[in-house]
Amino acid sequence: MTQAKIIDGKAIADSVRREVAEGVAAFKRQQGGVPGLAVVLVGEDPASKVYVGTKAKQTIEVGMASFEHKLEATVGEAELLKLIGELNRRRDVSGILVQLPLPKHIDAAKVIEAIDPAKDVDGFHPINAGRIATGSGGLAPCTPTGCLILAKSVQPKLEGLDAVVIGRSNIVGKPMAQLLLNENCTVTVAHSRTRDLPAVVKRADLVIAAVGRAEMVRGSWLKPGAIVIDVGIQRVPGAAGKARLVGDVAYQEAMEVASAVTPVPGGVGPMTVACLLQNTLKAAQAQGG
Ligand code: NAD
Repeated sequence: MTQAKIIDGKAIADSVRREVAEGVAAFKRQQGGVPGLAVVLVGEDPASKVYVGTKAKQTIEVGMASFEHKLEATVGEAELLKLIGELNRRRDVSGILVQLPLPKHIDAAKVIEAIDPAKDVDGFHPINAGRIATGSGGLAPCTPTGCLILAKSVQPKLEGLDAVVIGRSNIVGKPMAQLLLNENCTVTVAHSRTRDLPAVVKRADLVIAAVGRAEMVRGSWLKPGAIVIDVGIQRVPGAAGKARLVGDVAYQEAMEVASAVTPVPGGVGPMTVACLLQNTLKAAQAQGG
């Protein structure tokens, strides 16, 4: 049996970062300064610390300035909002990212809405969500943007495809659906209350799974030849008591049915930070002109 193509997210993310580095060099020649990304981390969440570290490292690697703001978990909402106000005003800060989740005493929506939409490189501000929904530019969230690049690496024109997005979160599922609609796909958004999910998935030429349930999507659900983009990341017990990472899709089964599949890890994951850097460059270009 022929096996699906493995979509190499790591290699594609490398090429996105190379393009960003070239864009940064051109920006520097034209504008003098370099784009800057400010990352705000509140508290000591170990996973968040790793993400922030990776973002800072890759920001510097593409030639941009990285500003890290680490605040105590007990910081007040007012103090955080004050910092965001300062970052909004700084000319050397092109993009602002507040690492989520935030501690419970802070209203995350209020914090996101305090970020200048022109600097909202996570694409979570309602103004950017609205611009993506109306197809009028804006900064799109990084993970769905990465998924789109991966799907287009297999099939550059997605027009007319039946796309099923599983998951309707504000950071992945909903913006993913909007981006696919902007590509002229026929989009279905499935979620926890969807009836007969296997039958919904069966009609998809393109499946984007963003649920967070290990190997939920089985090979038998897929239409032969479908393109499968797996956003999910779950840690499950592996051989010799060691944890292994799996996605929302039963990978080996999907490889037997689909035409192309993203692996976990090494698929969507590396694209998210690459697209964050791309958004930071885009934001700097828009502000610099
Ligand atoms: P979320 O928990 O906010 O949303 C999950 C969505 O799945 C919900 O909309 C829910 O309706 C839907 N859902 C839950 N159970 C379902 C079921 N049985 N059938 C159909 N739909 C169901 O999660 P999220 O933030 O959108 O993230 C989803 C997954 O993607 C997680 O595993 C997360 O770790 C991963 N993720 C990965 C990256 C990356 O860079 N690779 C980025 C963001 C999220």
